[in-house]
Amino acid sequence: MKNNIIKKIEEIIGKKNVLLSSEDKSKYLVEWRNRYTGKAQAILRPKSTKEVSLLLKLFNKNNISVTPQGGNTGLVGGQITYSSKDFIVSLERMKKLISFNKIDETMVVQSGMLLSEIHAICEENDMLFPLSLASEGSCTIGGNLATNAGGVGVLYYGNTRDLTLGLEVVLSDGSIINLLKTLKKDNTGYSLKDLFVGSEGTLGIITAASLKIFPKPREKFTFLASSRSPKKSLEFLRMIQKNTSTPLTSFEIMNNNSIETVLKNINGAILPISEEAEWYILIEFSSYEKNLDAVDKINEIVNLGLEKKIISNAVFANSKKQSKQIWNLRENISEAQKKDGASIKNDISVPIFAVDEFIRKADLIVSKEIPKAKKITFGHLGDGNIHYNISQPENLSQDSFFKLEKPLREKLLSLIVKMEGSFSAEHGIGIVRKKDALKIKGDEIKIMKSIKKSLDPKNILNPGKIFD
Ligand code: FAD
Repeated sequence: MKNNIIKKIEEIIGKKNVLLSSEDKSKYLVEWRNRYTGKAQAILRPKSTKEVSLLLKLFNKNNISVTPQGGNTGLVGGQITYSSKDFIVSLERMKKLISFNKIDETMVVQSGMLLSEIHAICEENDMLFPLSLASEGSCTIGGNLATNAGGVGVLYYGNTRDLTLGLEVVLSDGSIINLLKTLKKDNTGYSLKDLFVGSEGTLGIITAASLKIFPKPREKFTFLASSRSPKKSLEFLRMIQKNTSTPLTSFEIMNNNSIETVLKNINGAILPISEEAEWYILIEFSSYEKNLDAVDKINEIVNLGLEKKIISNAVFANSKKQSKQIWNLRENISEAQKKDGASIKNDISVPIFAVDEFIRKADLIVSKEIPKAKKITFGHLGDGNIHYNISQPENLSQDSFFKLEKPLREKLLSLIVKMEGSFSAEHGIGIVRKKDALKIKGDEIKIMKSIKKSLDPKNILNPGKIFD
């Protein structure tokens, strides 16, 4: 028999938008790596801010916990509920374009719009929204905001926070706060929108966002280089930045294991450099003019890099197809690693100059703790952000591999702390990094808890995420 709450919810969002069967709920309860499986009373699919507001009023009155979910691509278990009493509010039906203003260079969208749909709208209008992640076909802008997502364009354009002008948020008591301005300047007290960016669904449900957009670059120059180490790669990055004014929009490094795994597990993957190297660098420039001088200048820098042995090889993409082939290597690393079994993922950042040292020291730790485990190391060197992922070795079962996770993480964490880095540069805290957050950021967590208490006194919004 249906309980009263379900009946009231059905009155708000309609019966067909309340998913109750295990079959209907399943895809919302398993995260991307199949690492966490949750439970929920129902998945709710509202269509408007008003409906979200009525749902939260109902939940607040009845002390019911609720977790917002976008595209379910989060990597720290934050978008899933783990009790059969809880509800998930999926924003997947809220994907309207509210406004698009080319002169103002802003767009306003509902929060359930996929990142790839935002890209398509911009593309049609000869504009660009530069947030770019390998999960862009599935993740939503609401999820990007709630996790302050990074990706491959941060070096030049910044992360999601930097690309956001305003938000509309529904608070735990159902009240709607409209911070949806498209102003570039607005110093009128605390920046409340910044409180919700990166709050992982614990302070409010983001229902709409106003975003900064940019003119679409006329030309992109993509190339793949190889180098001996992250240190040499960083030298090359600084050499480029010192010598050209053409915007350098991506600078991604990948170790040989990452590339090998993609070549082995992804159909059609091609490495355009014939000589094997320890490290590869994907480099992309974006230019607003069809500028042959820029190409000459870039060639000059590459030649200088080769001459000084800072890089060992370089291949330019001379068509869109080739550029896509190069990007496929980078974007398929996570997918390819998944095919080799379980993994222990670390999304770390350290000061940029210390990336090389971090990787060398971390490699020693891993080789000692889990001999034979492959280190799949790649990331955004220009942001000091490295995805340091360990693959399950063939000689270990998944259970035995995960038993080694805790001591390994502890050792990596002390290295990160010693090097003044962050244990979660892009992905957030969710449930996975809660203990680390408490250990390392105890004083900050106290302040976060007091903010949480004032905005969500009954603790109904995504409870148990970030902190207990
Ligand atoms: P979800 O996974 O559904 O939710 C994530 C968190 O946000 C949860 O805590 C949830 O409660 C909250 N949330 C979701 N929607 C809302 C809302 N409307 N209001 C309030 N809270 C909400 N991340 C990066 O930063 N950089 C990368 O380069 C990157 N690459 C990835 C590559 C792959 C292959 C995959 C699978 C993931 C990657 N991620 C990356 C992680 C993930 O895609 C991002 O965290 C993304 O921003 C999550 O968006 P989502 O819509 O899937 O959110």
